Amino acid sequence: SAMESVDLEELLKGTVHLLENQIRLSGISIEIQFTDDLPRIHGDAQKLQQVFVNLLLNAIDASSKGQKIQVMGCLGEKGDSVKVNVVDYGHGIPKHILSSVFDPFFTTKPKGRGTGLGLSVSQGIVAKHGGTIKAKSDKGSGSCFTVILPVITFPE
Ligand code: ADP
Ligand code: MG
Repeated sequence: SAMESVDLEELLKGTVHLLENQIRLSGISIEIQFTDDLPRIHGDAQKLQQVFVNLLLNAIDASSKGQKIQVMGCLGEKGDSVKVNVVDYGHGIPKHILSSVFDPFFTTKPKGRGTGLGLSVSQGIVAKHGGTIKAKSDKGSGSCFTVILPVITFPE
């Protein structure tokens, strides 16, 4: 794994493609849209793909047949970052556990179904890129995970 120039749009399309069969078999639909032409960022493409795989697998787990998942990419407010939202309309996250979802080993999934490491590992990867990851959710109406990555970073 190495830092390189990453085209996030290409990376996100590839990540969605990777999970397309699983999504289709679950009866879920997926939309991917980019409101802006995203600048390339400096990053580790494999690690960043791992982040979006984790977010999408969680979205799939939370969704039911007939629901949709949206992946939306846009420029950050100041134009010096890119923002990716992974949105689902599934069961959502209760308020009292929202602050725990990034904790290592925190899972609400049945034994053998979740390690509770996806979000904690993802947060670590995003932090190494100088970015942030946040969760918003209302129980019953779905969740939105927002990844913000700086366009230029100088990692150690
Ligand atoms: P795991 O998927 O193995 O449980 P994660 O770190 O990926 O571990 O997620 C931790 C927990 O956060 C999940 O068990 C679930 O309770 C909650 N969670 C994460 N993403 C979503 C989502 N999109 N919708 C509802 N709950 C979620
Ligand atoms: Mg997970």
